[in-house]
Amino acid sequence: MSRIYELMAAELSDKVRSQEVSAEEHLHSILERIDRVDEKIHAYVTIAREEAIARAREIDKKARRGEKLGLLAGVVVAVKDNICTKGIRTTCSSRMLENFVPPYDATVIERLKTSDAIIIGKTNMDEFAMGSTTETSYFGATRNPWNLDKVPGGSSGGSAAAVIAEEATAALGSDTGGSIRCPASYCSDVGLKPTYGLVSRYGLISYANSLEQIGPITRTVRDCALLLSVISGHDSRDSTSVKIPREDYLKYLISDVKGLRIGLPREFFGEGVEEDAKEPVLEAVGKLEEFGASCCEISIPAMKYALPAYYIIAMSEASSNLARYDGLRYGYRDENDEGNFDEVFSRNRRIGFGAEVRRRIILGTYALSAGYFEQYYLKALKIRTLIRRDFERAFKDVDIIIGPTMPLLPFNIGERIDDPLKLYMCDILTVPANLTGYPALSVPSGFRKSLPVGMQIIGKPFDEGTLLRVAYTFEQNTGYHKYRPPL
Ligand code: GLN
Repeated sequence: MSRIYELMAAELSDKVRSQEVSAEEHLHSILERIDRVDEKIHAYVTIAREEAIARAREIDKKARRGEKLGLLAGVVVAVKDNICTKGIRTTCSSRMLENFVPPYDATVIERLKTSDAIIIGKTNMDEFAMGSTTETSYFGATRNPWNLDKVPGGSSGGSAAAVIAEEATAALGSDTGGSIRCPASYCSDVGLKPTYGLVSRYGLISYANSLEQIGPITRTVRDCALLLSVISGHDSRDSTSVKIPREDYLKYLISDVKGLRIGLPREFFGEGVEEDAKEPVLEAVGKLEEFGASCCEISIPAMKYALPAYYIIAMSEASSNLARYDGLRYGYRDENDEGNFDEVFSRNRRIGFGAEVRRRIILGTYALSAGYFEQYYLKALKIRTLIRRDFERAFKDVDIIIGPTMPLLPFNIGERIDDPLKLYMCDILTVPANLTGYPALSVPSGFRKSLPVGMQIIGKPFDEGTLLRVAYTFEQNTGYHKYRPPL
């Protein structure tokens, strides 16, 4: 017999609307699930129990009164802790913001609420979204539900772990260089980084604003389409938000890839990408060919510069975005208030930020400083343009690009954390979509050594529809979305 916390967002909202299941009983089954498994996984930083119960009761009341309920009626959503939630602490998993309670909701949160979703709590992440393992959190690491010794990926590791462990029906993450797709791949979720500008960043605490987007993390492609339909669309409070008509992405859920042209970049299957990460993806591509797609090898020559370019741009933007945390206007303020402004400022930041965040602020400040600006930052911007041109050229001949999401299987907690360069290497296959702004989705494509492997599908700007159609076709004909970790 299936338990109600297992329901997908699409099924659940139908049942809440028809009053077959009440939002409150469903929420309680999720809360019990959290009480049972989160001690092992540590997906959550904050659980907003009381607020969630009050919301569930309101939704049930609306249903009883016969009012029209929204697309996500009763759906329990976990939110990455760098997205502002009014009245609910938003920490970025940093000591700096340990006690920050935003006075406003991010646009995506407003939209979730308008569609009758329930915000259950805030999920753990790498501090200020800087990392790929969720180990740099001030509140301690999150564990991979498939194997508690392994990392869940990052930086949205709490969101991805919560969803596959059924501690939430769906989640939001943010992706600056892979932070939605990496943990989706490592936890066997569907994770989508939308085209830059499709989803409002208003209320997202910035790490590297020219690269990042908020996006859904779910167990099925249908739920991904559902959440995207709710959170996307123009917002005048984000100047980079694009003015295009809102879409109903559910219409792309068609199991058909006949005539689809797939490009396989040589660089995504070459040196540095482990066999265990490649094989399931090549098998998946074989399946898509059986269903009528064709594929060819392509090349993205500028890929070899993608990682250094990404890290220079991300760190430079971070050094500027994080300058506001001085302990005076915002953030951690040490009891010891002695000294002049510089001394107080440095002390608050030294204690308030963890080692990785400090490293990036220092390197980013260096890359932007007079004399080095042209040598590092400007050069990185030029490489960004070259990579974009490579992708534009490739997309003249193909409809989508496929590769692994991650170059290696989930590794042990503690294994790479002391070697930043080794950690940065994990992002090699995810950063191109951020540098170009193109949409990219990770879909479960099998297991190796009992650990999940994700397939990455990259599309043309604003062509989320094709990504969803391809992912849906694969999912419906294989069924990897039905597996659950042994908890
Ligand atoms: N791992 C990458 C980084 O550390 C990406 C992080 C992200 O997407 N937020 O910058």
